[in-house]
Amino acid sequence: MEATTSLLDAAAVGDLVLLDPLTEESLLQTLQERFRRSNIYTYIGNVVISVNPYRSLPIYTPETVQEYRNCNFFAVKPHIYAIADDAYRSLRDRDRDQCILITGESGAGKTEASKLVMSYVAAVCSKGEEVDKVKEQLLQSNPVLEAFGNAKTIRNDNSSRFGKYMDVEFDFKGEPLGGVISNYLLEKSRIVRHVKGERNFHIFYQLLAGGSAQLLRRSRLPRTGGQGGPGAWGGPACVCPQDAMKVIGFSPAEVTALLEVTAVVLKLGNVQLSSSYQATPAPLPPPAELQEICELIGLDPAVLERALCSRTVKARNEMVLTTLTPCLSPQGYYGRDALAKNIYSRLFDWLVNRINTSIQVKPGKQRKVMGVLDIYGFEIFQDNGFEQFIINYCNEKLQQIFILMTLKEEQEEYVREGIQWTPVEFFDNSIICNLIENSKCGILAMLDEECLRPGVVNEDTFLTKLNQLFATHKHYESKETQNARRVMDATLPSQCFRIHHYAGKVTYNVTGFIEKNNDLLFRDLSQAMWASRHELLRSLFPEGDPQKVSLKLPPTAGFQFKASVATLMKNLYSKNPNYIRCIKPNETKTGMLFTPELVLAQIRYLGLMENVRVRRAGYAFRQLYDSFLQRYKMLSPRTWPHWTGSHREGTKVLLEDLAFPPEELAFGHTKIFIRSPRTVSPGRGELGGT
Ligand code: ADP
Ligand code: MG
Repeated sequence: MEATTSLLDAAAVGDLVLLDPLTEESLLQTLQERFRRSNIYTYIGNVVISVNPYRSLPIYTPETVQEYRNCNFFAVKPHIYAIADDAYRSLRDRDRDQCILITGESGAGKTEASKLVMSYVAAVCSKGEEVDKVKEQLLQSNPVLEAFGNAKTIRNDNSSRFGKYMDVEFDFKGEPLGGVISNYLLEKSRIVRHVKGERNFHIFYQLLAGGSAQLLRRSRLPRTGGQGGPGAWGGPACVCPQDAMKVIGFSPAEVTALLEVTAVVLKLGNVQLSSSYQATPAPLPPPAELQEICELIGLDPAVLERALCSRTVKARNEMVLTTLTPCLSPQGYYGRDALAKNIYSRLFDWLVNRINTSIQVKPGKQRKVMGVLDIYGFEIFQDNGFEQFIINYCNEKLQQIFILMTLKEEQEEYVREGIQWTPVEFFDNSIICNLIENSKCGILAMLDEECLRPGVVNEDTFLTKLNQLFATHKHYESKETQNARRVMDATLPSQCFRIHHYAGKVTYNVTGFIEKNNDLLFRDLSQAMWASRHELLRSLFPEGDPQKVSLKLPPTAGFQFKASVATLMKNLYSKNPNYIRCIKPNETKTGMLFTPELVLAQIRYLGLMENVRVRRAGYAFRQLYDSFLQRYKMLSPRTWPHWTGSHREGTKVLLEDLAFPPEELAFGHTKIFIRSPRTVSPGRGELGGT
């Protein structure tokens, strides 16, 4: 009988909570075996593990959607649709706000997973003209954001270079009303440089291949061949996302303005600054590329050139213009590059805001919310800088919330069901979070302090300070602390520090930390932008308004990120969590290839073993009485074929006949809980998903 044999096939158990014995190897083998059979989804309780097949599988058809619609989570094959369905129904019928947290490293399948969840929910929630319009707007926000925020990288042809959180809001009937998108830390350094073999943001290629003739003519850009755009499953799409923007509600003028500013960023990259620039006497005519930019944005080329090649410094109440000579010096290009990065990242923020304006729900409406988080995973590279530090901090926070919420959710369910529960032990990573974010003496606070210090600042003093502060911190290491602690194989380069994250040790090079944290744009440049007649561009630089010059420094990048992470955590914490843990099976984007070492590393830093343990510490198995009875009643002559009593009673009788020890069981208000269903005689009474 199916129910009794399903678990004998231990190598392919669909829920790792039922794995016996539980070891890293058995967990790895199970994932590998399932993957070999094209079962890319596996559960840990209600957490879904997804292993990227890098091949299109026939498991996302409308028929599959129907199969999972209103399914019983534990009775159907593990699937991302099952978690989407469970979350949606819980939101609609039980009034519980949901969040779907998708984590994993670059290329693991997070973004595809988030799209699958959204499209599933869109497919099962009701239809109607008004509702369909909202759905379309929500779904079309993806290609627009991907055009501007994704790029081809070595790891992923369509890699998201920003973090995204989207709240989809529903009315009391479960119909979508709209949503709100938040974005996190766009990788703006890509604007000025990227690794060989990678590319810049898709939009630049899309603009050149698919922008309107008129726009290209006006921006004096050549049309290029059509090999741009994200490598979607079906093949490259190089269409400029104009249609998607139209669906969302952008006016033609807005689309044009957006693409014009994009063209400006593109052209800035080609501006060669003259090494003989002189503010006075009469300078040489500005380079052609610069003139073209200025034509497009309605600005006197001399103003822009001056802003790029010189800098106003305040000295003793007097403004003095200093030329950055020669202009080919790093500062000259520093200004140009900083400008390009700033325009682009502000444009991206504008874009997100603009989409939000279209999809936002009128205030006052009662709503239920489903949040979907698609954010960069943990990064351990050869060289790790400020970006990795920030990204890994975010992952540390997500891990913290994962542990707290898994436990919290467990506890709440036991309370709801009226069952006794003893708390379990777990590794608490708040010590690492605190090391980074403590507002008095955390690493981010120390960095801010260094950035605010007048005079020459450099990273050496920053590192020295960290070394003093964390000389004995268990999760902090540097060459100096290694020496002090007499670590025999002191291996750290002198400009580095290392953090022992929950997911592993990462060595960060402090070079660039201060500049990136400061993220300053010379005032001359913001003033030049504000002076342009291009409405959109101008609006991106409000601080360029000379009337409004304030001496207050803008908040640092680290400070802003910390604040937005805190808001995000608060938001997530208020919702019922659903987890999708994505795994990348190989480094070469090859279909159906599974590299065990690579997966094992991810199993470790996703904390999957810990997840199973927490889940097992209580009751590994739980199911509503009616579905439990329905599924297993054939195992006892007393319940088969018909049971006439209550489902709860029937379950009791059934489990008695299967000789389950009473201490293994707990009868909740609506569900049966079994500590570890594998402890009964093999072959009989074993319960498991397939
Ligand atoms: P991430 O967002 O984690 O960096 P993506 O979601 O962009 O990764 O996935 C990378 C690539 O892997 C996709 O472009 C697609 O080719 C492939 N992929 C991801 N998930 C699936 C899936 N469920 N089925 C088939 N291919 C997938
Ligand atoms: Mg992605």
